[in-house]
Amino acid sequence: MSSDLGQQISALMPRVRSELAELVSIRSVADARQFPPEECARAANWVVDAFREEGFTDIGLHETADGSNAVVGSRPGPGASAPTVLLYAHYDVQPPLDDDAWRTPPFELTEVDGRWFGRGAADCKGNILMHLTALRALGSEVPVNLKLVVEGSEEQGTGGLEDFVPKNAELLRADAILVCDTGNAAVGVPAVTVSLRGMVNVVVHVEALPGELHSGMFGGPAPDALAALVSILASLRDAQGETTVEGLQHDQTWAGAPYDPDAFRSDASMGSGESLLGAGTVSDMLWARPALTILGIDCPPVVGSTAAIVPRASARLNLRIPPGTDPDQAEAALTAHLRAAAPWGVTVTTEIEATGSPFRAETDGPAYDAMRKAMSEAYGRDMVLLGQGGSIPLCNVFHETYPDAELLLMGVEEPLALIHAPNESVDPGEIERVATAEARFLQEYAAARG
Ligand SMILES: [Zn+2]
Repeated sequence: MSSDLGQQISALMPRVRSELAELVSIRSVADARQFPPEECARAANWVVDAFREEGFTDIGLHETADGSNAVVGSRPGPGASAPTVLLYAHYDVQPPLDDDAWRTPPFELTEVDGRWFGRGAADCKGNILMHLTALRALGSEVPVNLKLVVEGSEEQGTGGLEDFVPKNAELLRADAILVCDTGNAAVGVPAVTVSLRGMVNVVVHVEALPGELHSGMFGGPAPDALAALVSILASLRDAQGETTVEGLQHDQTWAGAPYDPDAFRSDASMGSGESLLGAGTVSDMLWARPALTILGIDCPPVVGSTAAIVPRASARLNLRIPPGTDPDQAEAALTAHLRAAAPWGVTVTTEIEATGSPFRAETDGPAYDAMRKAMSEAYGRDMVLLGQGGSIPLCNVFHETYPDAELLLMGVEEPLALIHAPNESVDPGEIERVATAEARFLQEYAAARG
């Protein structure tokens, strides 16, 4: 059965290419200031038509709170005793950014050295084709009840689907959810992402004086707000560069697959001269420990500055927090640290801009077992568990709305895909292998739950 599936999927690859080319040619950037909204409507309708052909009789567009349309559908399976699987992807894409930086036309799927280039080829239109291909290979023998949601404003981060899911919980309820908007750590190495960081964004204001004072006449005894801010910010890292927010643990270790330091350097476009920060491994620093980034500082710019003591200064901070850390507790720890670190009696105030929860998947349920088997058959090697340094708020919404559902983050977006950057591409072999794994997963999962 499984080698049949592999052969069928390989025979479907020319169709994957022609349909991905159609979908990539639709400039579905959700920001209406940059691209006409008809493009998103065309992409949404393309998705509706394609899945209707695969048996999603009940499928259509649902407007969400941010004005975008999510494609929502269902395909009944063999009966109520079979498990329900929700498939996720998004049809909107990042803008192409700098057109001149593209070596091929951004909205024309173009093959170069075995990879297919184009905006959205991987993120996330490649995953849409992956879902379709898995279902086509199974044909009428899909052994589970399927639901589908393909959203239209993931890249904007305006939260349309996050708002929609809890309000329409029954529509999308499932036993397992395949969130297909990530990928493997390297081509050919099957992986599921199981850990995402949360975050706290804070603006800190320091006030030391009612107004500017001449640095010659007053500099020395008079308190300096910018120097105070620098001293506060410096206390947030130790000598190795490790984030040291008082009250937040920073010695946790990552238990899944390690992130090879050389691969990290190459993914980050770092040379060998720059050192990697922290006392832990790359995976510890990225997926298991807090990390603070100073996003911006308000103070006089060099050009136009005068010989004056700066009376007030501000900084915008982004704290990434690992699973196991509560965002409210992290916010309290960070603001208390900033106040306690303030020297010279300067006044410190903080503004919380946003917080987001970290996410960790439960990996010992039947869907994970089925995916382990399916991935190892499709790839010929064991599946690994990855973390991701960023946040995907939708995963938290799925987890809160369906606490018993198993969430699996996967897909065709490996590091060479350069998602969000110019020259995005997809490895067609990844579409083929992940589609095979997805089809095998549906069989294995149904058998385990049947
Ligand atoms: Zn995406």
